[in-house]
Amino acid sequence: MTTFFPRARIYVVGRQVMPPEEVERFLRDEGAAWQTDTDNPAQRIPELAGRICYMSFGDKQGRKDNKSYLGHILEVGHGSVLEHTVFSLLFTGVSRSLTHELIRHRAGFGYSQLSQRYVDETDASFVVPPAIQGDAVLEKTLREFCDHSVKVYTELTDKLAERMATPDALVDFALREETLREKAPGQFTFGEPVDGKDNLSVDEWRRFVKASDTALKYFKKQTIRGRRKSAREAARAVLPNATETKIFVTGNARAWRHFIELRGDVHAEAEIRALACDVCRLLKKEAPNLFGDYEVARLPDGSERTRTIHRKV
Ligand SMILES: Cc1cc2nc3c(=O)[nH]c(=O)nc-3n(C[C@H](O)[C@H](O)[C@H](O)COP(=O)(O)OP(=O)(O)OC[C@H]3O[C@@H](n4cnc5c(N)ncnc54)[C@H](O)[C@@H]3O)c2cc1C
Repeated sequence: MTTFFPRARIYVVGRQVMPPEEVERFLRDEGAAWQTDTDNPAQRIPELAGRICYMSFGDKQGRKDNKSYLGHILEVGHGSVLEHTVFSLLFTGVSRSLTHELIRHRAGFGYSQLSQRYVDETDASFVVPPAIQGDAVLEKTLREFCDHSVKVYTELTDKLAERMATPDALVDFALREETLREKAPGQFTFGEPVDGKDNLSVDEWRRFVKASDTALKYFKKQTIRGRRKSAREAARAVLPNATETKIFVTGNARAWRHFIELRGDVHAEAEIRALACDVCRLLKKEAPNLFGDYEVARLPDGSERTRTIHRKV
């Protein structure tokens, strides 16, 4: 049974830590005193970073609370200090078209995404675009198409895998992936004998694989991962943009703010806009003093957008 996702799932898989003993050691070494009112490392870190710029500690410390300190940073656009706080978010239930847009965000982000070459998609899930959700006829059309695409994908993978398992193709694979290596000129080896034979020429290996079941099995085992990967990388061409993917994203607070603004905007695509709104809500909770200026507003069609008075700090 194929799974169809209506909305992304977000997991906060990485948060800041700020070892208090190290902060204390720094303050002691500098003879400095720092008064703040938050225990949240995500908010303490950029405050400390900002205070380093002017060594505004002790007598020179103006603002005594984190909210007004970071609020001032947002107001004057001293955004680089926000880059010291990072959040790692894991998104699942997002489409390949969403991640194609997401990874355009270069500055301050790192990505690790599910590989469609390594991971089998015969039981792929899909994402239903917001505009289609709730319309039974359109949803049915989409579901049928997605199911069909998986069928074609599976058929292509199986047929390609079969084609890549002929004796000649197996030898080609082993040579290409250098599991079968040239040890001396014209003599190829796996580093161990196969059914009693070793150090043969390519033609001798080809003849041997055709003649010996044991050799055929050996070659199949040696090349299985590479063959599967090659079959999948070709077969995935038929999977739609709606195919579900998983992506691990680490971004600093400044970069997340930029993402929330651009992708939470009314002009952004609906799926990524919904994600930006969810990320916004989540990061407001994680670090209200860094993201509290954002508002998530409802639009007439029931979808949402983000808004702030401090754009692109
Ligand atoms: C509504 C919408 C529609 C879009 N439509 C299209 C489209 O039709 N086609 C398309 O190709 N893309 C499109 N995009 C993607 C867009 O062009 C950006 O690639 C994407 O939004 C990332 O923005 P960014 O470059 O500001 O972000 P990031 O890459 O995260 O960069 C953040 C900021 O860092 C600075 N920066 C980053 N890299 C550089 C650099 N190399 N040199 C100088 N400064 C830099 C800039 O100030 C930039 O704004 C669209 C985006 C949106 C939100």
